[in-house]
Amino acid sequence: MDFRSDTVTQPTDAMRHAMANAPVGDDVYGDDPSVNELEQWAAQRHGFEAALFTSSGTQANLLALMSHCERGDEYLCGQQAHNYKYEAGGAAVLGSIQPQPIDNEPDGSLDFTKLAAAIKPDDFHFARTKLLSLENTINGKVLPLSYLAQAREFADQHQLQLHLDGARVYNAAVALEVDITEISQHFDSMTICLSKGLAAPIGSLLLGSKALIAKARRIRKMLGGGMRQAGILAAAGKLALTEQTLRLSDDHANAKALAIGLQQLAGFSVNPDFVHTNIVFAKVDPSIDIEAVCQQLATQGILVSPSNPIRFVTHKDVDSQDIAVLLEKLAECLN
Ligand SMILES: *Cc1c(COP(=O)(O)O)cnc(C)c1O
Repeated sequence: MDFRSDTVTQPTDAMRHAMANAPVGDDVYGDDPSVNELEQWAAQRHGFEAALFTSSGTQANLLALMSHCERGDEYLCGQQAHNYKYEAGGAAVLGSIQPQPIDNEPDGSLDFTKLAAAIKPDDFHFARTKLLSLENTINGKVLPLSYLAQAREFADQHQLQLHLDGARVYNAAVALEVDITEISQHFDSMTICLSKGLAAPIGSLLLGSKALIAKARRIRKMLGGGMRQAGILAAAGKLALTEQTLRLSDDHANAKALAIGLQQLAGFSVNPDFVHTNIVFAKVDPSIDIEAVCQQLATQGILVSPSNPIRFVTHKDVDSQDIAVLLEKLAECLN
């Protein structure tokens, strides 16, 4: 049982079958029918003109930032944003794009007053503020639809482009019980990870206008991300978006059950208000040796990342029975 991340999910039998039988060609020549089909279908499904299949979410985010921004431009994002904090500074290193992070509010949102104050005047002393980048879900929390509408208004008012890091955007749609387009409609570009809770082995999508995706395709080649018979991966990616989205509600129910169980454990505290989807953060009392607990769990085949707070992630390869076992073994360790 692996609670470290939803990236550990194994491809389904249907995915392996589709991968084995996918028609393929050289995608750098535009010849891979499975990639072309996925890109065209995904663009239409999410309400964008075009889409690009990428090797990872990190690459898709970097392509979005480098396609919206030129050298010396700036993007606004959260201090906790994946595309600021966890992508090795790629936008700055490879794009010469300056990040302007803003503290995330406790619910994961960015305050519009703080954002407005961070926008630079048109003056050669400053970087040019081009883009606002949001993330949904962010640390498992769902941004409300009303907030997304406000963000669109804010971006228009300040002539900014609006990007969504939607690595787990399907978790947000499922939690809100809305069609994905209720979220995607507000954005100029959006990324989706196919290889997290949606269980594809590899791959992400970048969605946007035809012009943006054409620019991103050129940069993807520059970054070494042009793939050849990538239809083998795209075939699994299509199933991620057609067969794996609705079942995310099981992961959310399991995360809720885990949060409730963890609250009963001495030395563990969880804020259940922030368990919207498949990620549970538990603060652990300093008297507990987290490394030792995680090591002991590992000897029993249960993988948990030792950190404080501990982050538990639910996904298709752990079921409600596994949650019960995890809680039982944790209680044993603590005794
Ligand atoms: C995982 C993740 C990414 C990056 O995806 P990789 O495929 O791991 O590169 C980007 N943004 C968010 C919010 C993520 O959780």
